[in-house]
Amino acid sequence: MHKKRFYILFFLIGISNLLIGQDSPYPQNYFVYPVDKAQVGIVANFGELRPNHWHMGLDCRTNAQENYPILAAAEGYIAKVKIEPYGFGNALYINHPNGFTTLYAHLNDFFPELQAYVKQQQYAQKKWNVFLDIPKDLFKVTKGMFIAKSGNTGGSMGPHLHFEIRDTKTDKVLNPLRFGFNLPDKVAPTVTSLVLYDRNKSTYEQSPLNIPIIKKGNQYFSKDTFMLNTDCFSLAIGAYDQLSATPNQNGIFAATMYIDDQPITAFRLDSIDYNETRFLNAHIDYKLKYNGGKYLQHLSALPGNTIAAYTTFKSDGSQIEVVDNQSHKVFIEVLDANNNKCTISFYVKKKTTASSLKENTTVPYNAWHPGAYSSTKIENLEIKLAPSSLYDFIVPDVKSIAANSISNKFMVHYPYVPVHNDLEIYITPKLKIDASLQNKIIMLQEIKGKTEGLAASIQKNGAYKSTVRSFGNYSLAVDTTAPVITPNGFSNNGKVSNIVRFKIKDNYTSIKSCNAFIDGTWVLVGFKGENFYYKVDENCPAGKHELKIEATDIVGNTSTKTFTIIK
Ligand SMILES: [Zn+2]
Repeated sequence: MHKKRFYILFFLIGISNLLIGQDSPYPQNYFVYPVDKAQVGIVANFGELRPNHWHMGLDCRTNAQENYPILAAAEGYIAKVKIEPYGFGNALYINHPNGFTTLYAHLNDFFPELQAYVKQQQYAQKKWNVFLDIPKDLFKVTKGMFIAKSGNTGGSMGPHLHFEIRDTKTDKVLNPLRFGFNLPDKVAPTVTSLVLYDRNKSTYEQSPLNIPIIKKGNQYFSKDTFMLNTDCFSLAIGAYDQLSATPNQNGIFAATMYIDDQPITAFRLDSIDYNETRFLNAHIDYKLKYNGGKYLQHLSALPGNTIAAYTTFKSDGSQIEVVDNQSHKVFIEVLDANNNKCTISFYVKKKTTASSLKENTTVPYNAWHPGAYSSTKIENLEIKLAPSSLYDFIVPDVKSIAANSISNKFMVHYPYVPVHNDLEIYITPKLKIDASLQNKIIMLQEIKGKTEGLAASIQKNGAYKSTVRSFGNYSLAVDTTAPVITPNGFSNNGKVSNIVRFKIKDNYTSIKSCNAFIDGTWVLVGFKGENFYYKVDENCPAGKHELKIEATDIVGNTSTKTFTIIK
């Protein structure tokens, strides 16, 4: 009896793995789950919506603590090591013989031999943040081998392991849940809202209309036919996915939209390239999110969104045109990575008074369009946009809003409209800049009341240029203030323990470089934000030492502080 039950259970597990494998192009169960000792589970999946990017891997639980053993997901060799203060923090990359690379991020120390090798390389380069190509087979690993301790380094907001699977040749990041990890998932995605955009206008120059939906099991529908005030529309949904028995709201995997049973457009997050991940800003209603609202995901690509994750079944799948006054059925399928599905269905019908795209009265002549170069000049300001800068058209609003000493402050459109890349801002100073100060000019970028100093390069005509990725307020300033270095937990002539901490702050810009010396010897200093640290090593044996710290901002203002410390 017991034996039979066991077989049935085994059989069911076999079927579910087969189902995942059925439409997955990837080997199933090749990789083992990479965290040991902690409860198995994820707090974020591939495709979760994040500021300026999709989440590109799994965030594996480490019970909200650091230093859990991290395991090689399969055999291979250590191919790369990255150490950076933001992003991945301490990360390692393993190449596997079947053409995949796995990445492990936000780590603390690596296994001792690798840790020693990395430290030697950092000292050789006199640089803490490094991206090392490790010679093939120098560090071979076996499946399930201990490779590092988990941590909270880089851009991590709490202890966990960030785990990615990539195609080694193309470096494209693949959806790890398509590889059959044992993370039970029988729960269909949840839809929280459905909205409609009038596509005779820019999506950034309207508030979308809410279409009320009712849930019945995994089906959502609208009771009433939605009456269209336009002959051209697109849709977006609020949606999330959950695994079985976990509270975390993850990203959905795919959605397809049909009109009268004909597929129009679909997106599917099988893989995302790091060059594409910023298109998240085109996938969501950026304006709504910027203004404190929730994430809504467009079901069709905006005109400037060229990410490969979208498929268009008709010539212009970014919008739906309704030519007649008949009622039309809209049907949407939403999937997670394990093929759990929910659907939305409702009817639309055009009002006889609906505005028409063909009248073409709504797009002003001075609009900036995705796919085209745009520029404008006012007073001492010039702006240039590349064809890849915008996702949807806008009618630009650019003006001088305040008089500063070096230049006026200019409002360059509204930061709730996302910029993909290559927005060039040129500002010419109002007065002649003394030769000694010409390389101390920075561009101030103000977004949501937060000011940041950016590097600006002087042009032949005397203008200063910065290339940015955001609309906002821009002006020039002179920066002659050096960073401020403050000890954190030690004092001059005081004792230090195993770690020496200090803070470095600058008035406007980020820190370009920080170097520390013990008795004149360069030592390794790591940092996260304004917090810097030296892990006391063989360069600081027991006794009295001189610690010298130098910090430089992006325009070359340098400060130096010297302390006597006792180890
Ligand atoms: Zn992550």
